[in-house]
Amino acid sequence: MPRLSSSIQVLVVGAGPTGLFLASELRRYGVHVRIIDRRQAPTTQSRATDLQPRSLEILEQAGALSGIRPGGRPLHAINIYSDARPIARMDFRGLDTHYNHMFASSQCNTELGLREHLKALGGRVERGVELVAIEQHERASTCTLQSHDGHIEVLRCEYVVGCDGARSTTRKLLGIPFPGATYDEHYLLADARVTWDLNRDELHGFIVRSGSLLVLALPGHDEYRLFADIAPSDRREPCREAFQEILDERAPMPATVHEVGWASRFRQHHRLVPRYRVGRCFLAGDSAHIHSIIPGQGLNLGIQDAYNLGWKLGLVCRGQARAALLASYEAERRPLALLTLRTTDIFHKTFTVRNRLGQRLRDVLLPPVGGAPWVHGRLVDLCAELSHNYRRSPVVSRLRARIFKGLQAGERAPDVCLTTDDGSTTRLFAHFGVFAHTLLVFLGGGLGSLNIDRKKVEQLAASLPQIGGHVVAPVELRVVVAGPEGLPAGLDRWVQIDDRRGAIHRRYGAKRGGLCLIRPDGYIGFLGPLEAPPLLDYLAGRACLVSAE
Ligand SMILES: Cc1cc2nc3c(=O)[nH]c(=O)nc-3n(C[C@H](O)[C@H](O)[C@H](O)COP(=O)(O)OP(=O)(O)OC[C@H]3O[C@@H](n4cnc5c(N)ncnc54)[C@H](O)[C@@H]3O)c2cc1C
Repeated sequence: MPRLSSSIQVLVVGAGPTGLFLASELRRYGVHVRIIDRRQAPTTQSRATDLQPRSLEILEQAGALSGIRPGGRPLHAINIYSDARPIARMDFRGLDTHYNHMFASSQCNTELGLREHLKALGGRVERGVELVAIEQHERASTCTLQSHDGHIEVLRCEYVVGCDGARSTTRKLLGIPFPGATYDEHYLLADARVTWDLNRDELHGFIVRSGSLLVLALPGHDEYRLFADIAPSDRREPCREAFQEILDERAPMPATVHEVGWASRFRQHHRLVPRYRVGRCFLAGDSAHIHSIIPGQGLNLGIQDAYNLGWKLGLVCRGQARAALLASYEAERRPLALLTLRTTDIFHKTFTVRNRLGQRLRDVLLPPVGGAPWVHGRLVDLCAELSHNYRRSPVVSRLRARIFKGLQAGERAPDVCLTTDDGSTTRLFAHFGVFAHTLLVFLGGGLGSLNIDRKKVEQLAASLPQIGGHVVAPVELRVVVAGPEGLPAGLDRWVQIDDRRGAIHRRYGAKRGGLCLIRPDGYIGFLGPLEAPPLLDYLAGRACLVSAE
């Protein structure tokens, strides 16, 4: 029996996008993490191509976007045609985010950017190393790792996260089932060079009686991702000739396929684990959920699992949060995976329906229903993952704060574009703390016209140092100043955000003064009145942070 080699805080199993991003997040928190992958080289498969707006925001906040951006391109809308007639359009340009578009980036490009990001943080993937056994104990797990040369290592890990994909070994070793089903259709997918007259800034779906074709432009000037469903009895392989036939049949304009690069024939599944955790071991990404790739959510869900678990494990490993915080990972992420499974299933069935009556109903109902502004807004928000929220989470405040109109604890903290006097622009997100909770102190619509109690502001100013020092995790304070009058004594020594034009107050619905605590992952943990006690209760209570006393 090999002896225990060493002891680490977190073992990340799998270096796909989920594992790479999780490992870099943990490195940012200074956690002693190792990341292994059974493959000896990174994948060359193009696979996932869509990064959604919320993922772009997150990758930017984490400092990981700059390495991905040069290898991709924005996509502003999705158009669906049935028999060459437009039946649906989802336009991302109206979204309330700096990234009001999707982003086409092959999975190799995304992974390359994430690997570089991990490297810059001092991490590296151990390749040709596979997890083969886990034994759980009260304070740690013992993991057996096998290298491709047969070397066996036994490692003590405080926590293990299986990011090892749809066929996850971690999930199997933990005995977690993966219930769900496989869709009937088969799929042909390819990155190909095509000549045709197509708007390259948008994604297109062409449906005809016999099947559908999804197309999105990749960075090369005539390169496209092609994705077509075929009947199970159709034996075609994803070669140039097959795609030429499919384009001739389904695209409403003449098209010539010159060359097919990476290509695949595959089937799709929809499956979700009943639990994301057993003891000290967690699942994230495709190891926990898989679903139809229409309309490109899978990789995004994995990246957001990693972002959610990353700060929680980071704070727990640093001794700044109680282990109870980790229970909120499944409570927050599983409902969103379930929602994604359901919505992608609806998209999938709408797109691939084969019977004549279903197709007629879709073609008649979709234009008026999908085109209604409210439905369109909801669909785009959902697809962009901006409306994903943790309102029912056990670790967000339950306080009913009507001070902030239209905003609730558990929602994504909105970004706001700020224009300074010299005309330059900056964004509210740039003021959010790194690794820290950020407390936005809203004073209301300008101190001169202040309809808040001045005494309250002074009392709060006196207790602000106490808020920062109440828990051992860092809480960064920002006073959002709307009026030109300056701050009352006591508040003027805190970092101020100039909101003279009132844009932040308006976006946060903060006509009166109030407190908004934003978690390190950019979701609102607490909204409350302009007074310290409810926030202090929240910080050391529901927020699960370690109290400084
Ligand atoms: C053809 C195709 C097209 C897709 N298109 C899209 C799209 O447009 N948009 C989208 O969002 N998603 C898309 N997806 C889904 C997307 O590719 C996945 O959601 C994404 O790859 C999941 O990332 P992951 O890191 O969770 O898992 P993976 O990328 O599967 O990575 C898992 C890693 O774990 C490693 N591993 C496995 N077992 C072990 C072990 N025992 N020990 C060590 N390492 C191990 C593997 O080698 C692998 O590198 C597509 C998928 C496919 C197949």
